[in-house]
Amino acid sequence: MPRMLSPDTLRALAERVRYYQEMGIYDFYRRAESHSEPANEPAFVITELSATDSILTASIVTEPRDPMPRKSAVAVPIALEDNPLAPSATYAEQQVSDPVQALKIIREDLGDCTRCRLAKQGRKQIVFGVGNPKTDLMFIGEAPGADEDQQGEPFVGRAGQLLNNMIKAMGISREQVYIANIIKCRPPNNRTPERDECETCSPFLMRQIVAIKPKVIVALGAVAAKTLLAVNDSMANLRCHWYDFRPAGVRSNDPDWVSAKLAVTYHPAFLLRDPRQKKEAWKDLQMVMRELGLPMPAKGVE
Ligand code: URA
Repeated sequence: MPRMLSPDTLRALAERVRYYQEMGIYDFYRRAESHSEPANEPAFVITELSATDSILTASIVTEPRDPMPRKSAVAVPIALEDNPLAPSATYAEQQVSDPVQALKIIREDLGDCTRCRLAKQGRKQIVFGVGNPKTDLMFIGEAPGADEDQQGEPFVGRAGQLLNNMIKAMGISREQVYIANIIKCRPPNNRTPERDECETCSPFLMRQIVAIKPKVIVALGAVAAKTLLAVNDSMANLRCHWYDFRPAGVRSNDPDWVSAKLAVTYHPAFLLRDPRQKKEAWKDLQMVMRELGLPMPAKGVE
């Protein structure tokens, strides 16, 4: 059973975490505890925000223990009201109910963005996101590469071809889903995005998510998963669980949508390098299909 933390403990933890973040410390790990815990439970699951308490509560449950203690994510509770990244104002797009309009407003607000260094480091254009704004399913990758930078659309290169095949294997098409990235500009030489670049850019993604209100988000790869879940953990630990995802810093004003379910799978670029992992990715996608009630085809990802 998940071991729930009391609201007081969560508040105290949130304060402590904020204190460390102000000092520039962001990554937290839970040490293996000395007492024995029940085996075969998932690593940890982020649970519901309670209606009375605006803290992102996290229930820490145990995982089968290795003899060697290893890094596992500590669930970081964030007091949304106190989060320095959380805006106090609602955004203009929240006044409109049509997601197409809402996304237009967000795009206009983004403008010809120069909020981070990537604007001056050779990006050709901003890659906002593409697909069906009324979808139940979003895929979120890391950052545009050269092809995406050239065409202004996420996942149009080789990794994009594989993502298209993954989506097709689920019995749906690219046009039926929405695809975006954690950051919207190509980093030089496709390097991994820096933390401050993610922090500067991801509020726009959060607003896109709130505008689209998907049932399910699939985080593609470690950068997307760690940024969205605000944890530092291995893909092996992050996969195969459902997370209750509430976009940070933007509160939905739709009473029918407060969160999406989030699943983590391998990035298509990683699958191109290690095709043996495709069958693992297919398991993740099947978990998503079950959640969305999609019929299960026999075929996997090719
Ligand atoms: N990789 C990503 O993470 N995103 C893209 O859009 C393309 C490649």
